[in-house]
Amino acid sequence: MFWERQIEKVPRKELQRLQLSRVKRTLRQAAKSPFYGKLFKKIKFTVEKLRRLDDLRNLPLTTKEDLRKEFPYGFVALPMEKVVRVHSSSGTTGRATAVFHTAKDLEGWANLVARCMYMAGVRKNDVFQNMTGYGLFTGGLGFQYGGERLGVLTIPAGSGNSKRQIALMKEFGTTVIHIIPSYALHLIKVFEETGTDPKKDTKLRIALIGAEPHSEATRQRIEEMYGISAFNSYGLSEMNGPGVAFECPQKDGMHFWEDDFLVEIVDPQTGQILPDGEEGELVFTTLNREAMPLIRYRSKDLATIFPEPCRCGRTHRRMSRIKGRSDDMFILKGVNIFPLQIDTVLMNIPEVGTNYVTVLEREDFDDRMIVRVEVRPEFFQGDLRQLSNLQRRITESLKSEILITPKVELVEPDSLPKSEGKAVRVIDKREM
Ligand code: AMP
Ligand code: ZN
Repeated sequence: MFWERQIEKVPRKELQRLQLSRVKRTLRQAAKSPFYGKLFKKIKFTVEKLRRLDDLRNLPLTTKEDLRKEFPYGFVALPMEKVVRVHSSSGTTGRATAVFHTAKDLEGWANLVARCMYMAGVRKNDVFQNMTGYGLFTGGLGFQYGGERLGVLTIPAGSGNSKRQIALMKEFGTTVIHIIPSYALHLIKVFEETGTDPKKDTKLRIALIGAEPHSEATRQRIEEMYGISAFNSYGLSEMNGPGVAFECPQKDGMHFWEDDFLVEIVDPQTGQILPDGEEGELVFTTLNREAMPLIRYRSKDLATIFPEPCRCGRTHRRMSRIKGRSDDMFILKGVNIFPLQIDTVLMNIPEVGTNYVTVLEREDFDDRMIVRVEVRPEFFQGDLRQLSNLQRRITESLKSEILITPKVELVEPDSLPKSEGKAVRVIDKREM
């Protein structure tokens, strides 16, 4: 069986017709929430005014700030007795936001995640170990229900507890994992410590990696170290969580599911819509949500939409890897820097280990950037001073990418703090 083949390969014209009718339904539903009810009244908007999909651009963008202001229930569009679940964004940047679901919303979400998993090649006879946090974070329950919907044995392993994760993989014969990329890099060290070789001693074949920005070099490292095929998974809790965009076997961008989300790309400064092919901020409108429809929600995630059809035959458009969030770009000596640029440079240097952190400091009105980099155990002979060549090479490579000369400090393998959830790659001490 091909998962939902009809909708995945639907002709674009038909998809747009479907989107238009779903947008109208969503707007009608949204009008029942306190926030959109008030907003539509204020701007004198009625659904009848929407004739074409393009007319949506006349509506203002919804922001995370709006969600925070209306926290917790201001966006709920039906009686609370219909609401069965709440999730929350991880709050890595500011106060958390709450997103509510009805039973039907949850079913729709599970279908989307199942569709993604099937697309990546996961089948019923796989054993799927979900290694992300269960709870308010959406990666846990999102993939649990997605896996079960697909019909695959799904192990709710949760995050952390590395040795136990490896034991579970061996005991149950895990073939597919869902894992945060920085944790996948860390876990390889625990494999080494326990004398286990993921290539020989496990049956792993597929990794679904996402939830945080990571470079192509990071993906390749994970694929090589584990001997698996890794697929990029994108989502945000405001749009359910995982299941918003996902790589197909071409691994050339992530397909959005445009029967479920209407996607626009806007200039992050002006909010103006940009044509496909230009980099900008992703803006989403839910097309099937009951409990908490969101209209033109600003994700803060920066990416490019690929307008060309994909070789896999799916008609849903694709997006590039996330370049970063408009709010995690930092400015040093007037230069804009994205953490992903640092990731790309470091992960392409074989002697660099699996963990690093960038610290920004201010001393005597002068900003400094320190990049602490773990050395890969194979290249560490007990004395970091012998590695001055490597240190110079890293400094040079970073300088040619970010145009600033950082202070590179090499540190011993496994010595930097690690995180079980999303990695903290930049510590900005300048504002503290
Ligand atoms: P949350 O809503 O807390 O789960 O966080 C969602 C955010 O995580 C997104 O808005 C992105 O910034 C980030 N994110 C999720 N998946 C990816 C991915 N595959 N690549 C890069 N960033 C991602
Ligand atoms: Zn494709």
